[in-house]
Amino acid sequence: MSRERPPARSLPSVDRLVHAAGTYPLPRVLIVRSAREVIARARRSSRGGGIDALLAALRSRLESLVRSRLQPVINATGVVAHTNLGRAPLAANAVEALASLAGGYSNLEFDLESGERGGRAAYLEGCLAELCAAPAATVVNNCAAALVLVLHHLTRGPRKQVVISRGELVQIGGGFRIPEILAATGARLVEVGTTNRTRLDDYARALGDTTALILRVHRSNFVMQGFVETPDPASLVQIARRHRVPVIDDLGSGAVWETRAIAGAADEPEPRASLAAGVEAACFSGDKLFGGPQAGIIAGTRRLVGALKADPLFRALRCDKLALMALQATTESHLDALQRGRVRPCPSVPVPALLHIDPSTLQERAIRLRAALGTWPGTVEIGPATSRIGGGVAPLSAVPSVAIRLQRDGLGPDELARRLRLGHPPVVAIVRDGWVHLDLRTVLPAQDAPLVEALRAVARTPDTNPRG
Ligand SMILES: *Cc1c(COP(=O)(O)O)cnc(C)c1O
Repeated sequence: MSRERPPARSLPSVDRLVHAAGTYPLPRVLIVRSAREVIARARRSSRGGGIDALLAALRSRLESLVRSRLQPVINATGVVAHTNLGRAPLAANAVEALASLAGGYSNLEFDLESGERGGRAAYLEGCLAELCAAPAATVVNNCAAALVLVLHHLTRGPRKQVVISRGELVQIGGGFRIPEILAATGARLVEVGTTNRTRLDDYARALGDTTALILRVHRSNFVMQGFVETPDPASLVQIARRHRVPVIDDLGSGAVWETRAIAGAADEPEPRASLAAGVEAACFSGDKLFGGPQAGIIAGTRRLVGALKADPLFRALRCDKLALMALQATTESHLDALQRGRVRPCPSVPVPALLHIDPSTLQERAIRLRAALGTWPGTVEIGPATSRIGGGVAPLSAVPSVAIRLQRDGLGPDELARRLRLGHPPVVAIVRDGWVHLDLRTVLPAQDAPLVEALRAVARTPDTNPRG
């Protein structure tokens, strides 16, 4: 076979190729760069550079770029705080608050009364403290940052040891490992107890002049059952106080609202309970069960929270105004649902609201959606499903739900799911047992019509399966 290269003059110019490609919602410089790369590649290869082949290559690159832009998707996985899909959808009041603030100026660090510099997020901090029944609270970028800040701050002096149970040396999500975080902040890890059992004594024996803190980490994403033991936090706090050692709780999700009604989530630790037990501070995420923007909330004693805010690292970990604004709206919603020390699941915050939708409501929606879909080249069924909280929270959570199950003639389920992901808007579904499952719990009601449109578009695509 001839390896002869096509003569350079047979290749179209960058301009011509860009023009032929048509319009894409991309900066022109990226389109031009892609065209250059496609032409350069054709020049290197032996396969020639007919305009059609080049155009197809360019369009495929541009479409892939367009797809990789941050954009809304329909979450049909049934995983409510799906970490890969942006975790918590924000409440309408949070979205309105963002829209009102984002395009203009605000009193972010400005006291309107005195006309002078004011405390950043002071009002929000007060709301968070109220919600957690804590003397004080503050907020940083995420719960991981909260943990780094607390560890860094409490181990910056001669006391470097962090006492932690062997059952809590966990990995949270991709690459976030408690022992490695400890090492990175310069703290020294002192492991106590065993994987399954850690007693008060184990902690007591480890405490000494060089202990900086006791860290308790919630086992968010896995469950231990059987011969297990963990001391009750109030007793641990008592022992720690005798040694003048603070106890810090990393709660992960931090259930500020009552999760008892959610199957498998009853044990999610509450910040209020931690603080009532006397821990110095508890930290948790803003975008898991809390249902707000990405944030790390720290609730604790006035002394520690004040010191954390004065730590130079705080400046590097603080939230931007948009996160603060969305968090303010979400926190106010939770506060509105606070009655006699209990926070009812707030119907206007999507995470609790979605988790409380009754399966019968979803069943009715499924029937309506199937009717709206009309003819489908394959099989459409409606059946039970199981939704989950997600975000590495309560892995045993199993919320009864309803799914539309699809099979498409001539396409395997993986290819069908892929075409749904490539649609407009993209639909992310679950493939199981030869079916594509669309769990309706996480499909926001306003997305019913776009979902039907996306399904119809896939129904119209050819039934040849390029992947066999
Ligand atoms: C999720 C989680 C974190 C990390 O929270 P981010 O807000 O995602 O940084 C930390 N600790 C625990 C126990 C968690 O579950």
